[in-house]
Amino acid sequence: MIAALAKADFVDHEAPQAEWRLVHRVADAAMGRVAAVVARALEAAVVTQRVAERLRQDPDGAVAGVALEPMAAALMQLVWPPLEAVYRRAGDIVTRNLGRHPMQKARLGTKTRPRLGFGFDITNPSAQEWAEQQSARLVRDVTDETRDAIRGIVGDAFRNQLPPVKLAAQLRQVIGLNRRQMDALSRKRDRWVADGLPPTQIQRLVQREHQTALRYRSMNIARTEVMNASNSGQLEAWRQARSAGLLSPKLVKQFVVTPDDRLCPVCAPLDGEQRELDRAFSFGGQNPPVHPSCRCAVGMALPKTRELTDADILSRGAADYPIANTSGTDTLARHTGPDGLTPERR
Ligand SMILES: [Zn+2]
Repeated sequence: MIAALAKADFVDHEAPQAEWRLVHRVADAAMGRVAAVVARALEAAVVTQRVAERLRQDPDGAVAGVALEPMAAALMQLVWPPLEAVYRRAGDIVTRNLGRHPMQKARLGTKTRPRLGFGFDITNPSAQEWAEQQSARLVRDVTDETRDAIRGIVGDAFRNQLPPVKLAAQLRQVIGLNRRQMDALSRKRDRWVADGLPPTQIQRLVQREHQTALRYRSMNIARTEVMNASNSGQLEAWRQARSAGLLSPKLVKQFVVTPDDRLCPVCAPLDGEQRELDRAFSFGGQNPPVHPSCRCAVGMALPKTRELTDADILSRGAADYPIANTSGTDTLARHTGPDGLTPERR
């Protein structure tokens, strides 16, 4: 992990999409550790005796029989600190590199080097607000999704009149998973039972599937959260730099997708979208991730000037074509070559 962290320091500022690289390097360096602690948090939920006791009279009470507080506590104590470290690290690197960005250099000259003593400030009110909101959201998202899955399996047990003790046992085998994963595992277990596999073998198979699914969910949560922290730290560093007069107010943020085969149809249309630093993108957020495991980032850019459309050109008519002295139609005819294309398009 030390080597990966050291790599995160290196940002190739001559290459395009330097910011995209930075966000990914910082995120990638923390990914393994965050995924491991997310898995521990997911496994921290406790199926208590109350689940079985309440099933018949009170399905909601049975759901509440799974104690999610230890999961919430583990998310705050184990998962949040490395995420906050990713936020700080991305902010630190952006701050340290201020003025090294080719665009900044070109626009503002060498005086944009950070003043002595200017550093990324995690005690800044907007950084504090980010930490409070995002840590609470993380706990809420993960526990809500887990509770929803438990509600599904308890509801099924109630409808199918499953013996309460059996429900408690089955819940223990799938605890920590999301609803889709629990449903998939339940279906597999039903099939193994129908196929007449011995109970010990079924238990072993279920255990293995449970671990695989937990790992998968942990990776998914970790990817989403470290990318969120990395993107947000970068954005906050730009805000602070701009307040300190170290970042040109002309620059805007620009959505940068990951241009590979995993690019999803949700993010593809967002590529290149520009917004003022504090304005939300069209998907509704200040920065990616747009969806779970989103790998998009944000860069700094000069505002794009609107490209001329055919309608713009037509509306200008003859005025823009000094060699034409007749009607607009004639003007267009003169400017269309033998292949039917206007000269600009050939
Ligand atoms: Zn994306």
